[in-house]
Amino acid sequence: MDDSSGLKHKELEFTLAAVSQLSSSSLSSSSSSSSSVIARFSADAGVAELRFHRDSEFIDGFYVDIGTSQLFKLGPVQSLCVSESSGASKEKSYSRAVTIQFRNEDESRDFHSAFEQWQKDVIQAGIHLPNGAIAASKSKFDYKIEPSSAKMYFHYYGQLLHQQNMLQDYVRTGTYYAAVIENRVDFTGRVVVDVGAGSGILSLFAAQAGAKHVYAVEASEMAEYARKLIAGNPALAQRITVIKGKVEEVELAEKADILISEPMGTLLVNERMLESYIIARDRFLVPNGKMFPSIGRIHMAPFSDEYLFVEIANKALFWQQQNYYGVDLTPLYGSAFQGYFSQPVVDAFDPRLLVSPPLCHVIDFNEIKEEDLFEIDIPLKFIASVGTRVHGLACWFDVLFNGSAVQRWLTTAPGAPTTHWYQIRCVLSQPIYVMAGQEITGRLHMIAHNAQSYTMYLSLSAKMWGPGAVQGGILQTSSGKLDLKEPYYRMSQPQSYTMAQDQQPQQLLQAQAIPIHTEDLDEVELLRQPSENT
Ligand code: SAH
Repeated sequence: MDDSSGLKHKELEFTLAAVSQLSSSSLSSSSSSSSSVIARFSADAGVAELRFHRDSEFIDGFYVDIGTSQLFKLGPVQSLCVSESSGASKEKSYSRAVTIQFRNEDESRDFHSAFEQWQKDVIQAGIHLPNGAIAASKSKFDYKIEPSSAKMYFHYYGQLLHQQNMLQDYVRTGTYYAAVIENRVDFTGRVVVDVGAGSGILSLFAAQAGAKHVYAVEASEMAEYARKLIAGNPALAQRITVIKGKVEEVELAEKADILISEPMGTLLVNERMLESYIIARDRFLVPNGKMFPSIGRIHMAPFSDEYLFVEIANKALFWQQQNYYGVDLTPLYGSAFQGYFSQPVVDAFDPRLLVSPPLCHVIDFNEIKEEDLFEIDIPLKFIASVGTRVHGLACWFDVLFNGSAVQRWLTTAPGAPTTHWYQIRCVLSQPIYVMAGQEITGRLHMIAHNAQSYTMYLSLSAKMWGPGAVQGGILQTSSGKLDLKEPYYRMSQPQSYTMAQDQQPQQLLQAQAIPIHTEDLDEVELLRQPSENT
């Protein structure tokens, strides 16, 4: 389709309080004066755009290509629109960010729903984008993800060593195996789609459980290896078809009764593959079909870990040198310090470091919309069990296989058998002091970015105690900004916590219960690779 006939609205206007533009190269900003600003959605000449006008004059340079943009709420009446656009010449790709100030919350809400609707329409209509490309030729994946990130990502998964690393996580693979085999009733005689099949292992499990046919969809070069592996298991091979391509793009001959997938990254959402799982649901699954897994939960609790805090803070000490071959390094100390605290720490920690019982954020894969994963905003509220210094927020996740016969959780919790996901900790550069029984409040706000991960904004607060502090008056707050794409793998450090492995109730089939050796150097090397699913 090459015109805008699919768009329901041709033009739509909103009055705004102000608008200003931030560009990634220069921080140029021009805000409106007291005169009102109009935001106009338009689909003229086959181009879907959002333009800003003041006093009916188009504000030069203030336009947003709806098809390639994302809109984020910064506050009740403030939003940020980020646009990944290509210039007229294809090589010149740059991003543009426009801050929008609304007059009130209702108008902000209306604007957001209009934006969402237009974006859907753009994708469905396949209309022309400003640079002349045809929207329909790009998939939802291409819109959201920077090509260089996708290239690295699929290159990584195209290598057998990384698939092996996941297969050797026996907690992970064993739980999938058990969940499928124990729930044969869900697979026997059913059509299955394996979303991101990798080596094809889950397709083979589904075929073992009696699936009528399995479509194994895999975008990376691993699809060729999956074909080879499946062909080498002839009893199952006739019921499996490998399809090389992205789940956002491939077409299947029939609908699926059940989806199986392992789309979880660090903190569940890293890699943004959950969105592909949801898109696969909408494209391939019959109404009320089953999803394996069907629910994911992010668990969070404040932690206290003086060693970790000092370790991170000390990393920047290098930049305190005033005479490094005659050079004063201190101008960069502050930036280096911030940089280290912007890395989520990945390791297995002792659950006794937790300062309060965890809370959890549930993501229901059957119900959630793809867009709901663009921005995840979690209010935090804990009651400290001990008086201590809180150094940040510890997070982990689990997923549920809601089989008709057996329900099974795959957990990455501290104290449970370690997985290749370990746990993550967001360390704050300023610890906060709490007393036993005291309330800790805060917020974890995660915003998806086009490098298949999230920017995380964390804040924790507690009321001040002690001499001089008026109870209830002053709040100590500590905040940090972290990039989930740039974790610090801490596994080369001696593991302080190893006892949990044999203390946990054994969830796995006995033959597969081989613990992972986290100190293994090869493993550490693997974990340094760009993607965190492995
Ligand atoms: N299912 C396998 C592999 C899991 S890793 C197992 O459990 O061992 C996730 C796999 O999904 C990777 O091989 C990756 O290349 C693939 N993948 C990620 N996003 C995809 C997408 N949008 N379409 C198709 N495959 C995708």
